[in-house]
Formats: sequence, structure tokens, C-alpha cells
Amino acid sequence: MFDNLSEKLDKALHVLKGHGQITEINVAETTKEVRRALLDADVNFKIAKEFTNKVKEKALGSDVLTTLQPGQLMVKIVKDELTALMGGETEGINLSGKPTIVLMSGLQGSGKTTFSGKLANFLKNKKSKNPLLVACDVYRPAAIDQLHVVGGQINVEVYSDKENNDPVAIAQAGIVQAKANGNDVVIIDTAGRLAVDEKMMAEISNIHKAIEPQETLFVVDAMTGQDAVNTAKAFNDILNFDGVILTKLDGDTRGGAAISIKSVVDKPIKFIGTGEKMEAIDVFHPSRMAERILG
Ligand code: GDP
Repeated sequence: MFDNLSEKLDKALHVLKGHGQITEINVAETTKEVRRALLDADVNFKIAKEFTNKVKEKALGSDVLTTLQPGQLMVKIVKDELTALMGGETEGINLSGKPTIVLMSGLQGSGKTTFSGKLANFLKNKKSKNPLLVACDVYRPAAIDQLHVVGGQINVEVYSDKENNDPVAIAQAGIVQAKANGNDVVIIDTAGRLAVDEKMMAEISNIHKAIEPQETLFVVDAMTGQDAVNTAKAFNDILNFDGVILTKLDGDTRGGAAISIKSVVDKPIKFIGTGEKMEAIDVFHPSRMAERILG
């Protein structure tokens, strides 16, 4: 694990400089350090390799070979490339629906229910919206109760129906209620399982088709590292989702999953979760994430 990649690269390249000119081979060697840093941050191996090859090309086309602080210049190139890879500008949420329907997807424990509450709170306080939360997990009554607790904390209404075991019907009834009550955003929390399986995929796909959401969000635990990529791909294949929510970034994960997911599904990361509290939500900033990944 590197405390400071910039210093490390500077040192490596300066030592080399002491022995004469920095060469292409030296640059290639130091890009290996960059790759190691990415792997330490849990970036997928293939993606890290492709990425460092690109960085090497850029470095050789720049002043790295002649500048006084080659390490810093290389780190700048790496940071800029990482930021671009993660989407450049931050993406907002599409609130064009009347009401806007937001569908949450993801595995159990990824943070869907918590994030549903955080998003409702964010939209209420920052965008002056009047959201409705809808509980569609028909397998775990505790999940419905949890959404009610969340709604109570942020003073947002929650629609649920414990008598009904058809998530599509519940989602639709929730939307009907939202229209009747004048809610302008409907956030639909769904059931997840511990791993991708056919039943869950069929269910989320049916809900998706029935309600035609403006925003389908895929929620993923940043700490699940490489697995996050496979899960993201499976959900994207079925839902062609609009954005990714990366949760649990308050842990010690470097967040390499952000790069891997973005590379594989090419969808924007929209928000990050940074704690269990309702306020622990941030709009995703690619440049900040690049810094975090590089350490
Ligand atoms: P769901 O099964 O996908 O609905 O996941 P939950 O919303 O129930 O979250 C699972 C656990 O992760 C709960 O204990 C949450 O408090 C916790 N959690 C959710 N988001 C975050 C986060 O951003 N940071 C931390 N530290 N914990 C989180």
C-alpha cells in the first residue's frame, strides 16, 4: 500500500536520473508502480493493465523524461486519466417525470434501503421535492419496517402493503398513491438477494418493465471489490440501468470498484454513500475519487 504515490514515483525517477537520462524503460518500470497502486485499490487486473498502458503512452508523449519532478507529472497524468475514465463531469439525477420514478436495484445488504432514504432526504432538502418511498421487498417484513423507520427519521411518507406479495402491484399502487397525494418523486426500494439469481433478476426486470422509471439506480457496496463488477454487469444486462450508487465508502476501501464498474458497464456513478446516517450522501466527484484511489 502506498502512502503517497507521487513521492514514491518522484524518488524512483530521481534515482534513475542520478544514473543519467530517464529512458522509456524507466518509465515503463514506474508505470508498474502505478499499476500496483491500482491493484492495491482493488481495481480489476485487466482494467489496471489497460489503463497503465495508456498512461505510459501519455507519459512518453509528455515532458516526463526531462522535467525536474517526473513523479509528480506522472501522477498528474494518472489522475487526469483516472478522472476521465470515471466520467469527467458529475452527473445529476433525471427529475423530469410527473412524478419522477426512481427504481433501486442491487444485492441484499448493498445499502438500497438506506440509500432510498438518503436520496429522499437529499431531494427533499436540496431540490425542494416531496418524495414518497415505496417498500417492495415482499420476502423480508423487516425490510418494510426498516423503510418505515428511515421514512420516520427524515419525515418522508412510506407506502407499503404487507398483505400483498406481488412487488409489481405494490410498486404500481405506490405510484397511484403518489399521484393522488401530489408526490413528485417516487423512490421504489426492492428486494435483493445475497447473490445474483434468476428469480431476483426476473422480479426486478418485471417491476422495471411495469413502471418505466426515469432513473434506475444500481446500488453496490464499494467494499465488495472485484465481485462488484460481476454484479454490476448482471444487473446492467437485465435493466440497462441509468446510474451507479457506490455505498460504504466511509470504510477503508480505496474505491477501486468505481473504476472497474465504470469501465465494464459504462454508466455514470451518481452518488456515494459515506455512512449509515441519512446525511451521509455525496454527489460523486470523479477527481476526488481518483485522489482517493491513488492514496
Ligand atoms: P439493502 O439490503 O440493500 O436494503 O441494504 P441496507 O440499506 O439495509 O444496508 C445494509 C447495511 O449497510 C445496514 O446496516 C446499513 O446501515 C449499512 N449501510 C448502508 N449504506 C452505508 C454506508 O454508506 N456506509 C456504512 N458504513 N454503512 C452503510
